[in-house]
Amino acid sequence: MKIGFIGLGNMGGPMATNLVAAGHTVTGYDPVAPIPKGATPAQSAAEAATGADVVITMLPSGAILRTVAAEVIPAMAKGAVLCDCSTVDVDAARFVAEQASAAGLQVLDAPVSGGTSGAAAGTLTFMVGGTDSAFETVTPLFDIMGQKVVHCGVAGAGQAAKICNNMILGVTMIATCEAFALADKLGLARDKMFDVVSTSSGASWSMNTYCPAPGIGPKSPSDNNYKPGFAAELMLKDLRLSQQAAEAADADTPMGQMAAALYTTFVEQEGGKGMDFSAMLPRFEKRGRG
Ligand code: NAD
Repeated sequence: MKIGFIGLGNMGGPMATNLVAAGHTVTGYDPVAPIPKGATPAQSAAEAATGADVVITMLPSGAILRTVAAEVIPAMAKGAVLCDCSTVDVDAARFVAEQASAAGLQVLDAPVSGGTSGAAAGTLTFMVGGTDSAFETVTPLFDIMGQKVVHCGVAGAGQAAKICNNMILGVTMIATCEAFALADKLGLARDKMFDVVSTSSGASWSMNTYCPAPGIGPKSPSDNNYKPGFAAELMLKDLRLSQQAAEAADADTPMGQMAAALYTTFVEQEGGKGMDFSAMLPRFEKRGRG
C-alpha cells in the first residue's frame, strides 16, 4: 500500500518503521522528528497525503489533528482512508470524520495502547471507530503495527474506548499506590501485599503487571527509578480528555474527576512531570493524612 504517515515522534516513528519493514511504501512528514529509514521524506503534510491509499496521523492533540486534517483532506484521493491513531478528544475525532466524509474520504479513529515499547515491537492494541469498509482496508496495517485490534463502533468509538480504559487505569493506579502506602504504615511487607492482592479481588493490571513498588512483581518502571514507561503527564492528558467527554455527555465520573485532580497536582506542583505515572507511590509514601 501507499501510505502517508504524519507525526513521526516517539510513537509514530517506530510505527512507520514497522510499515516500511513489512514492505509498504511510506511517505513521511514531521516538522521536527527524523523520517524513518526507508521512508520518503515529504515537505508538508499535504505532500505526504497526495496519492496515498491510507494516511496515518500520530499527533500530540486534537487541535493539531484539526489543523493537519484541514491540510491533508483536500490533498487526498477520493475513497482513500484517513486513519488517526493519536489520542484526542471525541469531538475532534467526530469533527474530522465529518470533514473527511464530506470530501468523499473514508475515515477511522484508531488510538492505541501499549506505549513506545509496543510501538517498537509491533504489539500495540488498536481501538477503532469508523465504517466496516474503512476498517477492512486498514486492518492489514493494524496487524503489522499491533497484535490486537477491536472495531469499537462508529466514528469516535475508538477514542471513547481509549479514554474509558485510561480513566480506569488512572483510578486503579492511584488505588494501588495508596494501598501500598497504607500497607507500609500498617507494617505489612510489600511482597506479602503483592502476593495476596495479585491473586485476590484487588488484582488489576496496575498491581499484577505494572506494580508501582520497586523489586516486586514483573519488571516495571518502578524498578528503573520511575523513568517512563507511561509518563504522568500523558496519563493526565488522557484523564482530562475523559473528564471533558464526561462533561459533554453529562456522565457522573467522581473517581475519574478525583484522579484527574491528583495527577494535575502531581504533574504541576509535585515534580511528577517526566516521571512514570506509577510514581504516585513515592508521592503517597511521603505524605500523612492531612
Ligand atoms: P510525540 O510528541 O513524540 O510525537 C508527536 C509528533 O507530532 C512530534 O514529532 C511532532 O513534531 C509532530 N507534529 C506536531 N505538529 C505537527 C504537524 N502540524 N504536522 C506533522 N507533525 C506534527 O508524541 P507521541 O508520544 O508519539 O504521542 C503521539 C500520540 O500518541 C499522542 O496523541 C499520545 O497521547 C498518543 N499515545 C502516546 C503513548 C506514549 O506512550 N507515548 C501511548 C499511547 C498513545
